Amino acid sequence: MAEPKNLSLPGPVETALSLLEAGGYEAYVVGGCTRDSLLGTVPDEWDITTSALPEQTLEVFRDYRTIETGLQHGTVTVRIDKTNLEITTYRVDGKYEDSRHPDAVTFTRSLSEDLARRDFTMNAIAYSPTRGWKDLYGGAEDIEDHLIRCVGDPETRFTEDALRVLRALRFSSVLGFEIEGKTANAIHALKHRINFVAYERIAVELLKLLCGKNVYRVLQDYRDVFAVILPEMEPCFDFEQHNPWHIYDVYTHIAKSVEAVRPEPELRLAMLLHDIGKPETFFLDEKGIGHFYGHPAVSARMADSIALRLRLSNAMKKEVTTLVEFHDSPLEPDRKMLRRRLNKFGKTTLWNLLEVNRADLSAQNPEKAGPQLDKLRTIEETLELLLRENPAFKVADLEVDGEDLIALGMHPGPEVGKLLKEILEKVMAEELPNDRFRLLDYIAGKVL
Ligand code: ATP
Ligand code: MG
Repeated sequence: MAEPKNLSLPGPVETALSLLEAGGYEAYVVGGCTRDSLLGTVPDEWDITTSALPEQTLEVFRDYRTIETGLQHGTVTVRIDKTNLEITTYRVDGKYEDSRHPDAVTFTRSLSEDLARRDFTMNAIAYSPTRGWKDLYGGAEDIEDHLIRCVGDPETRFTEDALRVLRALRFSSVLGFEIEGKTANAIHALKHRINFVAYERIAVELLKLLCGKNVYRVLQDYRDVFAVILPEMEPCFDFEQHNPWHIYDVYTHIAKSVEAVRPEPELRLAMLLHDIGKPETFFLDEKGIGHFYGHPAVSARMADSIALRLRLSNAMKKEVTTLVEFHDSPLEPDRKMLRRRLNKFGKTTLWNLLEVNRADLSAQNPEKAGPQLDKLRTIEETLELLLRENPAFKVADLEVDGEDLIALGMHPGPEVGKLLKEILEKVMAEELPNDRFRLLDYIAGKVL
């Protein structure tokens, strides 16, 4: 194929490359940034690979701020004009004993050896403005063909480091690329080795994967891999629902709903888990209709243990399990009801719940879901109008506080909080306005 054109590099990257060259070393940009440039997207970080050893890199950039990010891996971070650049010495990874960490890394003077350790051909392209392109594995062609292919023998590469299995799926989802046949076969064959990978790293890849545009296809084509990470999901595969609301089996419905929701980690993960408890709660009535009573609570319990296992933050775990637990709770375009929900969930989570609701409906039987989707639109409009009025839905939103109550003669103590809650109830029920003078009046009537 034709040699790709020259890349235009940001100023700080140009500076770093030429300083390394001036010091007598080779230096290239490599990895995600060359891949993204060839794809026509602007890279968010630029990684540099060099023949300079870490100490030599530190010496070249002695007039700049440097951070010894991972010296044992050969990485130095250099700050040039407010940009952080990671500069890594050419290296060869040692033997991988456990599909997880190389036992040792060895530095090398050969760019070819450094490129050979990289995971996929699209990530193994180096470029330098003075030395040109170094694309030993046909990466540019694979990028043009939208193909993910291992550098070297796929089985060997996935055996060395099983995280690459998930990276392949993540790139397929995010970039919308196919995984080349031999690479795909090796993924299916070696998927169990993911069990050697730390959960934190699995979680990072899983969340990125879920937010990709091609997530539906990846969830379907590699469901056996997901069953390794989430064994709880396996009973959902091909599980017929026997219910007029549903035209898809549980897993297909889940995959469609993931794709339908906004690509935010909490929302996508909530969709992935929202119906995971369905098989456990399945019940076929005498008419042959399937029901899943209580499945949101069962799914939420499973989501909680999955979130713990994946070492997700507490905030993320709480949001995801809440969205799963209440994904099916009835809502009406009713101001008072919406205020109560605001009180229970807060603004962000309530909006998220509406998005979850919409994604869930759009992955159901369109004939049944249509009117529900219309109703959802009305709920969203009602909530929007309500929020424009800055409604009170927490005690802190009230125009009076505990000190007002005490000033009016109440004794400090739990009764104060109780009365404030009672006032909030009345304000949310629109029986009292959230107006300071009207509220003080009301309190005076109660206290005096
Ligand atoms: P992203 O857009 O997510 O940053 P990236 O390709 O830049 O994608 P990084 O994790 O930043 O991914 O890694 C930078 C480069 O290091 C990759 O492009 C690849 O060449 C190499 N690399 C990263 N992880 C691995 C791995 N597990 N095995 C082999 N090479 C890897
Ligand atoms: Mg990167």
